Amino acid sequence: MSRRAARSPASGPGRTGDDTDREGGREPRGGLSPDEAAEVFRRLRDHMPGRISGAKGPKDQPDAFRSVVSCILSAQSRDANTHLATTRLFALAETPDDMLALPEAEIAAAIKPCGLYNMKARNIRRLCEELISAHDRVVPDTREGLMSLPGVGRKCADIVMSFTFDADVIAVDTHVFRVANRTGLTEAKTADETARQLEAEAPDFARRDGHFWLIQFGKAICIARTPHCESCFLTDLCRWYADRRKYCLLRHSN
Ligand code: SF4
Repeated sequence: MSRRAARSPASGPGRTGDDTDREGGREPRGGLSPDEAAEVFRRLRDHMPGRISGAKGPKDQPDAFRSVVSCILSAQSRDANTHLATTRLFALAETPDDMLALPEAEIAAAIKPCGLYNMKARNIRRLCEELISAHDRVVPDTREGLMSLPGVGRKCADIVMSFTFDADVIAVDTHVFRVANRTGLTEAKTADETARQLEAEAPDFARRDGHFWLIQFGKAICIARTPHCESCFLTDLCRWYADRRKYCLLRHSN
């Protein structure tokens, strides 16, 4: 039984006494009940575009190797800078062997636009070494396999799984993290924890396109600085909105 399924409605918004976090054994803060979470996903499905057919990987990268490298480059980098760095790097080399033949300094210079370039250059060379020595030059198509590669964390692995390998995975990027934790779909401090909670508790119908609904919603309505709550279809469910309303009412009554 999932954590949400064990919750009692009588104990508040989605909590029970024996309700423990899967990994840490600690009790999570409140969040949406299973029914509420399913309703959020139903509305997202009705309002937001799903998986884009024919999508070729993160940042429109055409193959798995390029997708993984692009993901490594995207850490703490804007999309435009990641795209520029990826284009510059792949203009020099397109395969693990060719990339490994490049001096680390040359890789670093090519990817400079995306920041943290020395560390990323090192990881890219280690990634190429690992692909050649342990994977016969083929990027693994499982989360575990991807996460065993140097420089690849859960977020990167899930993005490659979802976009490149067409897996039913809700990858957590900055938009998904924000929306999931604002609404109360998850109660997490990190992207990895958010991903684990979504994986454990998202309804089945949301697993395939949930990432796409959440990301589009986060870009169009629940934006980072000032979410467009006035035009949102989730105000009656959203925990963040409820807290804000309570705060405003309190201020007006004082
Ligand atoms: S009500 Fe506001 S904060 Fe909540 S999901 Fe909608 S836009 Fe985001």
